[in-house]
Amino acid sequence: MSARTRGYTANIFEKLAEAPSSTETFESSLWHAKAPAAPETGPVEGDIEVDVAVVGGGFLGASTALHLAESGVDVALIEADEAGFGASGRNTGFVVPNLLTGLDPRVMKDTLGPDVGDRLCRMLGEAGELVFDLIEKHGIECQSSQSGWIQPLHSPEKRAWLEDRVAQWQAMGRPVKALSREEAIAETGSEGYHGAFLDPTGGHLNPLAYVRGLTAAAIKNGAKVFSSSRVGEMTKDGKSWLLRIEGGGTVRANRILLTTNVSGQGLSKPAEGTQFPITLFQVATAPLDPELRKSVLPNNRSSADTRKDLIAFRWTPDNRIVTGGLLASPFGSAERARSHHLNRLNEILPQLPKLEAEYGWQGRLGAARDFMPRLMDIGEGAWSAIACNGRGMAMTTGLGKALARWLAGGSNEQLPISITKPDPVALPSLAPLAFSVWLPLNRWKDKRDIVRAKRLQSR
Ligand SMILES: Cc1cc2nc3c(=O)[nH]c(=O)nc-3n(C[C@H](O)[C@H](O)[C@H](O)COP(=O)(O)OP(=O)(O)OC[C@H]3O[C@@H](n4cnc5c(N)ncnc54)[C@H](O)[C@@H]3O)c2cc1C
Repeated sequence: MSARTRGYTANIFEKLAEAPSSTETFESSLWHAKAPAAPETGPVEGDIEVDVAVVGGGFLGASTALHLAESGVDVALIEADEAGFGASGRNTGFVVPNLLTGLDPRVMKDTLGPDVGDRLCRMLGEAGELVFDLIEKHGIECQSSQSGWIQPLHSPEKRAWLEDRVAQWQAMGRPVKALSREEAIAETGSEGYHGAFLDPTGGHLNPLAYVRGLTAAAIKNGAKVFSSSRVGEMTKDGKSWLLRIEGGGTVRANRILLTTNVSGQGLSKPAEGTQFPITLFQVATAPLDPELRKSVLPNNRSSADTRKDLIAFRWTPDNRIVTGGLLASPFGSAERARSHHLNRLNEILPQLPKLEAEYGWQGRLGAARDFMPRLMDIGEGAWSAIACNGRGMAMTTGLGKALARWLAGGSNEQLPISITKPDPVALPSLAPLAFSVWLPLNRWKDKRDIVRAKRLQSR
């Protein structure tokens, strides 16, 4: 690493923790360095009228606007900063066609009812394929690879859970598989795993390049896309909605959809309060010896294990490893974020050299208390959608397509989620504090599982 790069990196890591969604921690990412330029867009100027206004230019907003434009609906996509500035441009780039551990078809159907739950499972199960189909259809250059997503077991005691998870998704017609311990070790390169869930329709990509590509495709299909346009206020004005852009300009729309995730800054407080923010740190190593690819993720899968404080890692086309995750205390944690996440990888993959970070960045995701997506009614002809919950790229792309079909004249009965009222979590601002308690406790549980697994093995 050059002295210039080292200085830059250290500087960035010092600032990461204090600025979870700043421009600096957006531009310091590997994705920002490698993505093709953003489509040319500018702010809202004057007074604009459309049928549907989508507020928030992440995966969810971009997918909704693209599919609406393809259906011939007059749509505006309004972004406060630039496409992908939120969680969408800052994540790990895993395409994961399922929800978090435990939220499988049975739970989805129990929670949402058999029909809606079934539609959500089908939409989500097919959403990995949708992502890669859109990339091909619109010629999106985003270093994508549909090489599968795996979830290795950190403990042999997870085996029954794995068999059950696989059976549930296979019953929905999904081509998922349970891998044996030997297969999981061969797939990951880590002796510490005891089996794995494999979905061959997942994969990975450069997420900022992907969201820029979706946005460019939306523009090509007729969507009016605005950047540097924060919506400061939304009011009902007669039969339509009037959105006031901070600094000037208005957008009048018959219907509005907020896809602002956790960064709406009070545009719809009850909807925003329905989710709590979680800060995640990301690192990319310098390019490594390509020979290492033969023993670590040799099939180029993306891997996120079953630990509660999960370990996630993947290769990039230029032989870097990207990893990251949570930290117990988001304060003063910049330097720790880098060493903590790389040290964990070094522990489970001892064949790797001591890993050094070349890029570091961070983002904030939003999660509802049950980690399920929401479509919230926030006024006549106005809704707020959350699809994130940590596994968001496939989900947001699929949900955006479904919401577009609905807004273009589809019936409520076709939706893969029910329309609900916002249900704010109590004291959302205390959520990071609660998290600082949850994480050490669950790390302890992860360690306990691993110690138990080692004891079982040595018998
Ligand atoms: C570090 C990290 C790693 C992750 N890793 C993965 C992964 O590997 N795979 C995966 O599937 N998911 C991952 N996720 C989750 C995933 O990134 C999110 O689920 C997804 O990006 C959410 O997309 P979105 O469109 O809902 O929100 P966002 O991408 O956050 O978009 C919201 C947008 O709204 C804009 N906005 C906010 N307020 C206003 C306003 N008033 N006016 C105009 N615009 C506004 C923001 O600027 C922002 O661009 C990760 C998340 C993080 C933070």
